Amino acid sequence: MAIRESCGVFGVWSPHKDYKAAYAVYNGLVSLQHRGQDCCGICVQKDKKLQVETGLGLVSDVFGKERLDSMPGTVAIGHVRYPTTGSGEIKNAQPVLMSCTRNDFAFAFNGNIANYPALRKGLMAKGLTFMSDSEMELMGMLYSIALNKKDNIYDASKEVMEQLDGSYSLLFMDADGNLYASRDPQGFKPFCVGKDSKGNVFFSSESCALEALGVKEFRDLKPGEVLKVSREKGLHGKQAVEPKRITHCMFEFLYFARADSVIEGRLNNDVRKRLGEALARMHPVKADYVVPVPDSGRNFALGYSRASGIPYEEGLMKNRYIYRTFIMPEQEMREKAVRAKLNPVRQIIDGKKIVLVEDSIVRGTTLTAIVQLLRNAGAKEVHVRVGCPPVIAPCYMGMDFPTYKELAAANYSVEEIRKMIGADTLGYTDLKALEEAIGLDGKLCMACLTGDYPLKHKPAKDAQIRCC
Ligand code: SF4
Repeated sequence: MAIRESCGVFGVWSPHKDYKAAYAVYNGLVSLQHRGQDCCGICVQKDKKLQVETGLGLVSDVFGKERLDSMPGTVAIGHVRYPTTGSGEIKNAQPVLMSCTRNDFAFAFNGNIANYPALRKGLMAKGLTFMSDSEMELMGMLYSIALNKKDNIYDASKEVMEQLDGSYSLLFMDADGNLYASRDPQGFKPFCVGKDSKGNVFFSSESCALEALGVKEFRDLKPGEVLKVSREKGLHGKQAVEPKRITHCMFEFLYFARADSVIEGRLNNDVRKRLGEALARMHPVKADYVVPVPDSGRNFALGYSRASGIPYEEGLMKNRYIYRTFIMPEQEMREKAVRAKLNPVRQIIDGKKIVLVEDSIVRGTTLTAIVQLLRNAGAKEVHVRVGCPPVIAPCYMGMDFPTYKELAAANYSVEEIRKMIGADTLGYTDLKALEEAIGLDGKLCMACLTGDYPLKHKPAKDAQIRCC
């Protein structure tokens, strides 16, 4: 089984000799920490050498001042990894070093390669040996082969992109201090580029990390685009492959990316509020308060409250020092974490009719525990409203969804799920409301809601999930 490689990537290139790129990447990764907390790594370039440092856990635990000071250089890339398969193993940390006859490279990516098994088998048949099950190693090998044949990065990227089927926002750098970024031709994962007022160039999985570093001007990489930053030419690039079908992951807008990130010109906060308003129109109810599941349901709940006129209340307090529940690797850990991280505010909840708003239902276990918490705190009625339409299929493009067996909406009707989670009523948005709220003219992946995968290699229903 391939190792899942999800995650966040961040990179910087500076024209200034005294610039400390490792510090900038550190700060960028801290802003992307929500995209993965299993392990992290930073690579810097100095004196024609690449230095990679990695560690298990949070960025702030792995990198202290002493370690960052031992990483001089003006160009760097970094990675935070999502804990799914191969959780807690340092060998899965990125960036990954690769050599080809022309140069040494370090790679980091966010995504999932759907045709990984076939591509790996093909390379092994040609006599190549793999040291790991990592998709990053496969992509690094494909780039090494392509770079040995092609005399520029764009032709090499085209050759690699034409072989890959799946999602990838890829950052890499060479030992000469050139920095490269490419986004898959379908644009599944968010990926943006920006420049600060001093001419430093940044790449990030999400715009929130660019803004944290004072970058005011940024844009999304185009699907199929490859960018390079070099001393000779600064930031430049090319469309390596023309997209045939653009399929941005709708779940990034709704849940995975931060609410203050802008993807394809849309502030996630706004998308989520619009869905909350749609929920209020589609599933009205008489209640005393609209209460979000913090933090993921907050923007949806604001939208619901504004559209319905029902007051918004923070009826659940969150312990901020516990990881996001959805992102934790094991089921048992997930359930215990719900109780440890949420405290219902009895003074708000007791004797009241509550509209509880959440971004999505995947397994349903988290919501079951939360509804019970509200009832224990004296809620008279609990009406659950969900911003994302029912999730009926796994994701093979990089989101850590469970199999069909575990997905609530793949196995039960809305009424059955309502009973299961113990709510008085339950209402979801639908595909139309979702498309209207994001507004990208259908250029969305919604495979987990429809079962229709926008891939060349269609996964079998019982295919193993290898998401990043
Ligand atoms: S299947 Fe769902 S989670 Fe996966 S890429 Fe598509 S929209 Fe995103």
